[in-house]
Amino acid sequence: MFNVTPIAIYSDNYVWIIQHQGCVIVVDPGLGEPVIEFLKDNNLTLDYILVTHKHWDHVTGIASLKEHFPQCKVYGTGHEDIPCLEHPLLGGENVELAGLNWHVIHTPGHTLGQIAFYVEDLSGQGHLFSADNIFACGCGRMFEGTAEQFQSSLAGLISYPTNTLIYGTHEYTLANINFALHIEPNNTYTLHRQDVCSELRSQGLPTLPTTIADELKSNPFLRWGQPDVIRAAEHHKGAQLHGPAQVFAEIRLMKDQF
Ligand SMILES: [Zn+2]
Repeated sequence: MFNVTPIAIYSDNYVWIIQHQGCVIVVDPGLGEPVIEFLKDNNLTLDYILVTHKHWDHVTGIASLKEHFPQCKVYGTGHEDIPCLEHPLLGGENVELAGLNWHVIHTPGHTLGQIAFYVEDLSGQGHLFSADNIFACGCGRMFEGTAEQFQSSLAGLISYPTNTLIYGTHEYTLANINFALHIEPNNTYTLHRQDVCSELRSQGLPTLPTTIADELKSNPFLRWGQPDVIRAAEHHKGAQLHGPAQVFAEIRLMKDQF
């Protein structure tokens, strides 16, 4: 059984805890204490920490987890300075963890060194730990990369099977949906999603994981080929745009100013 639990930290981050065949893996521990508390409450020890990128809200808990669980191994991006990193990954590798084959993907854009992880459980279901690339109806900010790099990273991630579950690290969904509806006011799937996600949030529940299929239908940062999205981007730019990276760049700029 591949079991994934979100731990909410700060105002809108999630740390994902994965349990599989007695192994425990934590992704991007931006804070240590709530993770330690969860593991203790459930009589679990920690085997692996996976780290996608260097930002403080993804790495701050690594040292305290290492202190509590000295046997755990830290795998993460080798392109960036990550605390306690023991197994640097550059992307393109396959890593055997918890009896499963994890595919490491280099995804420059949000930062230049960010990586993501894709794994299929024993039933064949795909799980994508997408870091600050894809969120529900949104994407990370473009701090370091170019629009070409970011769009190409996103295109790579959405090439996995459409039923793949996506575990982003932020609960930005309702704000993202507002922006998505600004870009595509007539997208009935996004309107439906707004109802579903508003209900989840009113019950204090996470709106993640999402799926690649859901994102393809409603995420404006992945819909660079849709006429309505191109039209909104070109209207904002005041000029014709050529190709997915240019459309993505303009949509990203519109969100920054929204
Ligand atoms: Zn980040």
